[in-house]
Amino acid sequence: MGKINIKASDRVFVLTGAGISAESGLPTFRASDGLWAGHHVEDVCTPEALEQNPELVWQFYSERREQGANAKPNPAHLALAELEAKLGDRFFLCTQNVDDLHERAGSKRLIHMHGELAKSRCSEECGQPPIEDRRVYKNLSEVGRCSCGARLRPHIVFFGEIPLDMGMIQREIDQATLMIVVGTSGSVYPAANFVHWARQNGARTVYIGPEPPLNASAFTNVVEGKAGEVMPGLFEVE
Ligand code: NAD
Repeated sequence: MGKINIKASDRVFVLTGAGISAESGLPTFRASDGLWAGHHVEDVCTPEALEQNPELVWQFYSERREQGANAKPNPAHLALAELEAKLGDRFFLCTQNVDDLHERAGSKRLIHMHGELAKSRCSEECGQPPIEDRRVYKNLSEVGRCSCGARLRPHIVFFGEIPLDMGMIQREIDQATLMIVVGTSGSVYPAANFVHWARQNGARTVYIGPEPPLNASAFTNVVEGKAGEVMPGLFEVE
């Protein structure tokens, strides 16, 4: 398998999806027929679900918190942290994942475009910033309140909501000369479009994962395999 050569003039934008955490034991959802940990995403991942059944939504994200806390970063997370250590501010990581395995591997220049399991925020969007919250709630009455009095919700971007930090993401993609996409099915938008934006700017685009994503034709190079197996030693930095 060839190496991915990173030149001194390159700026690297990395997009990761659920697949990079699969080898850490966290289930993806496309891989299991559109179910995420046994749930239809519309039952636990939409504003309507939060409105109609907040207890189920909180139960689901409490389980994800518990599972995420027990998982460990795998060699793919570590390979990206090592790459960042070499490239400094020529590296930017955008993850669709809500777990914190990238941080725990040592990544620093990263954003979570779909939110973070370890945070909660006001369900009425009163303007208070998200707060750190790793609690595993057993029932709805335990869930905390915002200072405005409304119940907290998970700091997660549900389907139908606008991803976070899109301005910063757009600026970083505009500057990137190499885009590396890892473990995402290419079915969730706008993330699935990032590769097209990068190509329009003339960047090289590499996909890493065991099967081609839906947007595979937009990549200049596909590295087939499990991220934790193929990523260590994959990058050659000039
Ligand atoms: P997805 O579940 O739609 O697709 C997973 C992709 O990972 C597939 O293309 C699969 O081929 C690939 N994959 C499986 N094992 C892999 C491995 N070992 N190495 C590399 N790739 C592997 O994932 P998505 O496109 O990220 O969309 C899922 C959405 O659900 C995201 O927006 C995310 O917020 C959320 N989600 C997050 C987590 C998490 O935080 N760990 C887990 C599940 C879902």
